[in-house]
Amino acid sequence: MEKFNVDSHGFYGRFGGAYIPEILYDNVENLKSVYLEVLNDPSFREEYYALLRDYVGRPSPLYLAKRLSAKYGCKIYLKREDLNHTGAHKINNTIGQIILARRMGKTRIIAETGAGQHGVATATVCALMDMECVVYMGATDVERQSLNVQKMEMLGAKVVPVTSGNMTLKDATNEAIRDWCCNPSDTHYIIGSTVGPHPYPDMVARLQSVISEEIRTQLLEKEGRETPDYLIACVGGGSNAAGTIYHFLDEEQVKIILAEAAGKGVDSGESAATIHLGKVGIIHGSKTLIMQSEDGQIEEPYSISAGLDYPGIGPMHAHLAEVGRSQVLAVTDDEAMTAAMELTRLEGIIPAIESSHALAVFGQKKFKPEDVVVLCLSGRGDKDMETFVKYFKADSY
Ligand SMILES: *Cc1c(COP(=O)(O)O)cnc(C)c1O
Repeated sequence: MEKFNVDSHGFYGRFGGAYIPEILYDNVENLKSVYLEVLNDPSFREEYYALLRDYVGRPSPLYLAKRLSAKYGCKIYLKREDLNHTGAHKINNTIGQIILARRMGKTRIIAETGAGQHGVATATVCALMDMECVVYMGATDVERQSLNVQKMEMLGAKVVPVTSGNMTLKDATNEAIRDWCCNPSDTHYIIGSTVGPHPYPDMVARLQSVISEEIRTQLLEKEGRETPDYLIACVGGGSNAAGTIYHFLDEEQVKIILAEAAGKGVDSGESAATIHLGKVGIIHGSKTLIMQSEDGQIEEPYSISAGLDYPGIGPMHAHLAEVGRSQVLAVTDDEAMTAAMELTRLEGIIPAIESSHALAVFGQKKFKPEDVVVLCLSGRGDKDMETFVKYFKADSY
């Protein structure tokens, strides 16, 4: 029985599993039976690491942020996932899954996307590997995120606007699942986070675990030890966080602090703080914490950050929070935006608004001068410029 990681049935404690319609059973079973073998195959690893190095630009630097450290009185390293090709950690996962899909003989790729970041990362690897690519995206998001829609289309993907429900990420995911049901033999579904039915959460966590693998090597070089005192990351579905903590899970002296999006406040009714507010239920094939009403209707989440407003949370993170392995802080829009401006002015790095939620942890929690803290800077802020400009317009910055 695994203490913190997935067990052989696909569960993290009482969370996880694979709750899927019968028509997908063969697909998911097939994936489950091959993914570990493929991911551990030396020729897969060779191809995966070569692309991560020469195409994505890995290893991403571990950067000692001196002015940020001085301000908060501890030693802060930023793991620079923002420097990856396409601007975030998501490409680590899509590179791995596209190689896997090809090895499974698939010719067609589908994906869901909210803000469009995962859609762009998927369209990118499909162009690279000459695969047909269909991306489902809520019609509301298609309108809000036109630059990413344009990128996906330029990369050769077909973007399908979804008009059911609230026309956002949850609805796009439902539509992608529907497509997979209709095209089970030639299609691989690239899920963008540590969510969905087993084996997706584990598979995505493993593909993102290159982050913690590199942190260990880089910390050893810079600090003479492989383990930090604290790891900090933001959680939407949980993939950058899973990648950041993966190789430290069993070393309990390494404390884990995760930031989820509180929107306008945990109790405001406009939030995406799933771990604080969620109740157990099943969403997109997985048993986890979900924002839902008394009668089990999924509630529409809200956050200023499009990448964090998912009504569920990866089962790994539901479990780690429940057993106390991680501490989860709720960060409001205002706290995240303040942290974004602070990093920009102190270090000359404009972070993604998602990553800014992780940065806001420094405003909530005090660290000791000798603490070594590694924070996953999951993405860059280019995509968020419009939101930043609008938000700070009234201010004196
Ligand atoms: C998508 C995204 C996230 C949230 O997804 P996780 O799976 O929780 O990592 C965080 N940061 C950035 C920059 C993103 O694009």
